[in-house]
Amino acid sequence: MAYQLIPLSVQATDNIQCPYCQQDVINWAEEQYVQPCEHTLFIAMDIGFEYMTDEFEQSMPRSVDDLHAHDDQVNMFAEITQSTYPNYLILKSDLGIQGYSRYVGFTA
Ligand SMILES: [Zn+2]
Repeated sequence: MAYQLIPLSVQATDNIQCPYCQQDVINWAEEQYVQPCEHTLFIAMDIGFEYMTDEFEQSMPRSVDDLHAHDDQVNMFAEITQSTYPNYLILKSDLGIQGYSRYVGFTA
């Protein structure tokens, strides 16, 4: 397993911080709340992707366009974890919609 999953006990309206540089990569004080730092590989939800580096996309079996085209039948978490990226961290948080989560991937 190339990734480590860390469940966060934050609310859907809380900011999410990079564990390496402490930048708020989800920052609700900003109009554009997705604020990836240099460690951010992706910001995803069960219902779609908000951000992804080209490098990480290339490490996944399917492209983001392909996943979005089939987002009604795709398990985003399963897709993310099929990546061949060597070593990454996934912070998982509650999305505030029943059963849905946000996943933020980082690498050092
Ligand atoms: Zn960072």
